[in-house]
Amino acid sequence: MERLGTETAFEVLARAKALEVQGRDIIHLEIGEPDFDTPKHIIDEATQALNHGATHYTPSTGIPELRQAIADDVSRTRGIRVTPDMVVVVPGGKPIMFFAVIALIERLDSVIYPNPGFPIYESMLNFVSADARPLPIRMEHGLSIDIDEVRAMITPHTKMLILNSPANPTGGVLSRSDLEAIAELAIRHDIIVLSDEIYSCILYDQEFVSIASLPGMQERTIILDGFSKTYAMTGWRLGYGVMPVNVVQAVSRLISNSTSCTATATQLAGVRALTGPQDDVDKMVRAFRQRRDVIVNGLNRIPGFKCLMPQGAFYAFPNIVGTGRKSKALANYLLNKAGVATLSGAAFGSYGEGFLRLSYANSVNNIERALDRIDAAVRRL
Ligand code: PLP
Repeated sequence: MERLGTETAFEVLARAKALEVQGRDIIHLEIGEPDFDTPKHIIDEATQALNHGATHYTPSTGIPELRQAIADDVSRTRGIRVTPDMVVVVPGGKPIMFFAVIALIERLDSVIYPNPGFPIYESMLNFVSADARPLPIRMEHGLSIDIDEVRAMITPHTKMLILNSPANPTGGVLSRSDLEAIAELAIRHDIIVLSDEIYSCILYDQEFVSIASLPGMQERTIILDGFSKTYAMTGWRLGYGVMPVNVVQAVSRLISNSTSCTATATQLAGVRALTGPQDDVDKMVRAFRQRRDVIVNGLNRIPGFKCLMPQGAFYAFPNIVGTGRKSKALANYLLNKAGVATLSGAAFGSYGEGFLRLSYANSVNNIERALDRIDAAVRRL
């Protein structure tokens, strides 16, 4: 159990809430979830389903209608041919990490994963005693990877490479040419790719490219995606994996041994989300883009802050080395003295030191107030 990590966002949220109980006004830029409510037609579908008896177990891999809707959606958005037997429905995107790693990674298998990156990758790899190899994501590379660095890290023991684009915590997006170079390495060295595409719909200036769509990659890629971010459904717990059928069978067994299945009404809501109108998603992404521009421009005016323009997700990841403070100390200072909850970049891995992560899934008004508070507090340092 000691090898399992955690997610700092939930800890900082708890500290921020404790300050609020004491009467402090806190602006929340720590937690990674859309501030929008789930679109009404999706909620209506679930309430109707509950009223009409959708209160029983489902097959462990999901109801056929949802597996079909996901297969159709992923086929269309990734330009590949996905059939329902390649789809596993789970309670959120996160369980796909858990199940894929447990199903495929043996002790001392080498796995390359992004750092800074979503903390659960490293946690899961340590849990199964893998040889976890952090792949640095550097500002000098536009918050992307250096393909030569990937190449140098591959050994005969490399079993899996984890990718996340658009990325948490950086908002960085892998270019098609980087994905092609990675695909070439994965095929040559027989490496499985776990492609975390949970932010695939929250992308600003380009079309989404999945590594699974490159020649020879679908059969060695596990796509992780879900409804939490795209449809503002974090609390519903609905996600999925798309993977080769033999991996589906292994994951199905893990589901039978743990969650049994995903909530039935939630799955029916998922069918409606995928097959219903998408206007709310478009509206949300337009709002995120406007907030991104406000926060990045504002951060770059704060002394000691330097922030690249993120291309996807809803996070800004400024470098704060110029403030002379360590990331965690600065995040604590901003929470306690300025009433702004942010996360230390180091909470996402050692290469995140020198950065803060700010979620801009908040109103423009709150973002502007937070920027004023951060600016004033940093000038007092
Ligand atoms: N992958 C990444 C990169 C994330 O940032 C998150 C949530 O923050 C997840 C997966 C998990 O999503 P879910 O809430 O659907 O489990």
